[in-house]
Amino acid sequence: MRLLVAEDEPVLAAQLTSALQSAGYVVDAAADGLDVEHQGLSEPYDLVVLDLGLPGRDGLSVLRRWREAGRVFPVLILTARDHWHDKVGGIDAGADDYLTKPFHLEELQARVRALLRRAGGHASADIRCGPLLLDTRQAGISLDGQPLELTGHEYRVLAYLMMHHGELVSRSQLVEHIYAQDFDRDSNTIEVFIARLRRKIPPELIQTVRGLGYRLVAGPT
Ligand code: CA
Repeated sequence: MRLLVAEDEPVLAAQLTSALQSAGYVVDAAADGLDVEHQGLSEPYDLVVLDLGLPGRDGLSVLRRWREAGRVFPVLILTARDHWHDKVGGIDAGADDYLTKPFHLEELQARVRALLRRAGGHASADIRCGPLLLDTRQAGISLDGQPLELTGHEYRVLAYLMMHHGELVSRSQLVEHIYAQDFDRDSNTIEVFIARLRRKIPPELIQTVRGLGYRLVAGPT
């Protein structure tokens, strides 16, 4: 899952980024409203955390522009404490949830999990696919009840496939959702991660669809 943090206060932006990275997400950060708008239009984010008070272009205008352009990713807005009308404007403009500053990072993480879950059509924090169980609160995956030892990239690949189980997921889709923007992306490495995952879980769970991508075939039980 790949997230954008749009926040111009450097300390808060760093805290948000590291809290979300520690929850297993890859995070891009931007501080200027025009950059934020451009990134949201050009990159396939799974969720955006959007401060409404951005320099360059305010968050509400950015959000309206995204929604007009058909960008449907969940957006969690951050508002100043005394600006209650921002929440109303934000929700009307297409925000999915809001947090008022200051807030606890644990609450932010919980709201992000809930939004991602709903966007993926999952009602619970645990996603089960056959013998695999993804616990989005712990950013961990277990096989038959035994926690899997996964690297960060392996976790993100398998978690993404589990969030989209039964669907064809292309290699480029995986690349776009498991690496941050400034990372040196190489779609060949996806094959390496898949090969390593197949040594850690029953290999037939991940089908290769030749020339197109992969599909996790373990259905929910
Ligand atoms: Ca701000």
